[in-house]
Amino acid sequence: MVIDVSNMNQIHVDTSAEVATVQTGATQGAVVTALGKIGYAIPSGGEKTPGIGGVTLGGGIGTLARSMGLACDHLIGLEMVVPSGKQGAEVIQVDEHNHADLLWACRGGGGGNFGIATSFTFKIRPISTVTIYDATWGSADWQHVSELLSVWQSLTPSADDRLGSTFNSNSKKNGSIASNGIFIGSQEAQLRQLLQPLLGIGTPKVTIQTMSYLDAWLHFAAPPDPPHNDKFSSVWVYSALPPKAIETVHSFLANAPTPQANIWCLSWGGAVGRIPTEATAFFHRKAQFYMEWDSPWTNDTEEGQAIAWVEQFREALQPYVNGSYINVPDRSINDLRTYYGNNLARLQEVKRMYDPENVFHFEQSIPPN
Ligand SMILES: Cc1cc2nc3c(=O)[nH]c(=O)nc-3n(C[C@H](O)[C@H](O)[C@H](O)COP(=O)(O)OP(=O)(O)OC[C@H]3O[C@@H](n4cnc5c(N)ncnc54)[C@H](O)[C@@H]3O)c2cc1C
Repeated sequence: MVIDVSNMNQIHVDTSAEVATVQTGATQGAVVTALGKIGYAIPSGGEKTPGIGGVTLGGGIGTLARSMGLACDHLIGLEMVVPSGKQGAEVIQVDEHNHADLLWACRGGGGGNFGIATSFTFKIRPISTVTIYDATWGSADWQHVSELLSVWQSLTPSADDRLGSTFNSNSKKNGSIASNGIFIGSQEAQLRQLLQPLLGIGTPKVTIQTMSYLDAWLHFAAPPDPPHNDKFSSVWVYSALPPKAIETVHSFLANAPTPQANIWCLSWGGAVGRIPTEATAFFHRKAQFYMEWDSPWTNDTEEGQAIAWVEQFREALQPYVNGSYINVPDRSINDLRTYYGNNLARLQEVKRMYDPENVFHFEQSIPPN
């Protein structure tokens, strides 16, 4: 059964209380735009099309995580339709005082597990000017990929909390590497200096500019990709990758099955890491950075190799990494603790309280027992 919430997309902002009420069919792009126009934000992901529903329930990670935390950390209440009695349903209001366990679970426990969220209430954060950087290296510099990743991982997770930074490399066949990010405030010279160890490698094209947060978000939000197939996987890197692990990443990118295969990393630490792992269902807070990789394909004959590459990459990284992000689900993961760590047991308790008959279930949903 598909429950389509896309027409429930109203957004109401109360600036005096610094609270936004958002129906869950709104897209992430609509929420960021509505808030950004009036100088506010919730930390979220970086693309327009994902729904705020799934993004928030699973966490919502992006370049404001180090300065503000996650989308789910700003969820202070929600309306949810939950199962009730034989084939019945009930609409409940959830907040810190009512159904607090369910609020805890909806802060990162993943969509589709407990009921249908129809409306979210977010604490919103004032934000004005930010400084962005955009650095790209062409194929002549692909030889530096290991050094770039190594310097990026030692620099950005411990940098000033106002910096949120990404690093991504395409396969050797494609040859491009990029790092970009957002620094809160107008500090172009300070940002350039902070990034110097990275920008000094090879000959990147670099732009550093100051603009409103909304313009910065729109600048980085990519237009939707043309239709294609894809397989993603993700991990959290808790201790900096040692040279052998970086060599593994290098080797997978050098031998990727399709040119579009890539890795994407997001610096962690700062505000997201200061919240205890058991305070919300979102577990992976103490990592240094997040990494995902994917191998898109359009031709059916490429499917086997593309999927095998993603799965073998995951296996090869296992000695060096932990966990996975529930919003980038990977069906090769068999143990739900990979997503939820020690929070799985409490998520199951909440499941037993609100959906004991397991009405809401799918391949990797939280089972009551
Ligand atoms: C192009 C792209 C870029 C992305 N970038 C980021 C990023 O920067 N940061 C990040 O954190 N994530 C990112 N993601 C991952 C994104 O968080 C997930 O894909 C998320 O699941 C999207 O939510 P959705 O509602 O659009 O998806 P859906 O597939 O509709 O939903 C995902 C899950 O949530 C459930 N769900 C959805 N809405 C509700 C609701 N109202 N009530 C109950 N359950 C619900 C669904 O049943 C399903 O189980 C990206 C995804 C894409 C496609």
